[in-house]
Amino acid sequence: MLPEFELLMPRTLPEALEMLAQRAPDVMPIAGGTNVIPDLRGGRYRPACLVNVAGLPELQGVRREDGVLVIGAGVTIAEVLEDPLVAQVAPVLREAARMLASPLVRNRATVAGNLANASPAADMAPPLLVLDAEVELASVEATRRVPLKDFFVHVRRTVRQPHELITAIRVPLPPETSRARFFKVALRKADAIAVVNGAVWVEMEDGVGSREYGVRSREYGVGSKEYGEGRCRAARIALGAVAPTPIRAYEAERALEGRTLTPEVIAEAARLAAEATRTIDDIRGSAAYRRVVTEVMVQRMLAEVGRME
Ligand SMILES: Cc1cc2nc3c(=O)[nH]c(=O)nc-3n(C[C@H](O)[C@H](O)[C@H](O)COP(=O)(O)OP(=O)(O)OC[C@H]3O[C@@H](n4cnc5c(N)ncnc54)[C@H](O)[C@@H]3O)c2cc1C
Repeated sequence: MLPEFELLMPRTLPEALEMLAQRAPDVMPIAGGTNVIPDLRGGRYRPACLVNVAGLPELQGVRREDGVLVIGAGVTIAEVLEDPLVAQVAPVLREAARMLASPLVRNRATVAGNLANASPAADMAPPLLVLDAEVELASVEATRRVPLKDFFVHVRRTVRQPHELITAIRVPLPPETSRARFFKVALRKADAIAVVNGAVWVEMEDGVGSREYGVRSREYGVGSKEYGEGRCRAARIALGAVAPTPIRAYEAERALEGRTLTPEVIAEAARLAAEATRTIDDIRGSAAYRRVVTEVMVQRMLAEVGRME
């Protein structure tokens, strides 16, 4: 059963921020409610007051702004999936959105809610981490931006203060020579929380490297094209459901930078990515399984970005 709470319905962002300031700390924003409602029913928390931020006009829409893709905090996962700008400049977000929950949930769930909820398995976290996103937080006093890599503190804990609202997620437009992929391993293909999820992103040096490094990808069973057609200038790898928060695998990233993505380089980076995890046993999978899956999936995803045009 739902506990009792007061529900406030602001019509504008300033109104919402005022309500949060007055009621903090015993207040929570609610957007799609796809985490909040089950959690209230399950007794995870009992705030005296909810502020409904769904539909606030200032939080809507996806736009391009001075080299940044700005995703309003009210944007739903379904909207990410359908947005032409996202598809054009950050298709990895679309890949993740497609694998999050079901159409029913995606119609309500927001990207900001997914991040603020801070589940270690949040599907939008790894792609936004590899895209080096920032979270924009507003309060009645100020607005600040926090790199997503510094946003998560622990399971279901972030640096957001109770009187602050996420207003947008800001993604620097990735360079044209960059490529990214998202992966999710779960117990079902749809409507299932990740056993492991993650994303890889590489920026390639144009025209550097050559096919002399090329190794038939048949060895990996992922097609017939060749790897090693350029050197990796920068790399980011993010993993979910393998630590108390979504994480970056920094050592693995360093093992790729300045290198040609040969199978050996990729294998070493995948090994280091698995080493960065702090997996646990739970109902979805054992710690040992999660480590193995992490290594295999990172290896596969890097092989894919290594052979993308
Ligand atoms: C059946 C089902 C399946 C699911 N499957 C998946 C899945 O496959 N992958 C996955 O990652 N998640 C999944 N989820 C979880 C959930 O749908 C997502 O995390 C979703 O993105 C949460 O968004 P929301 O808008 O519903 O957040 P809400 O439930 O409204 O809020 C979640 C948290 O975010 C806070 N919040 C919301 N908006 C803001 C804001 N603007 N500023 C600050 N804080 C805010 C709330 O206070 C709360 O702490 C599933 C949920 C259900 C019920």
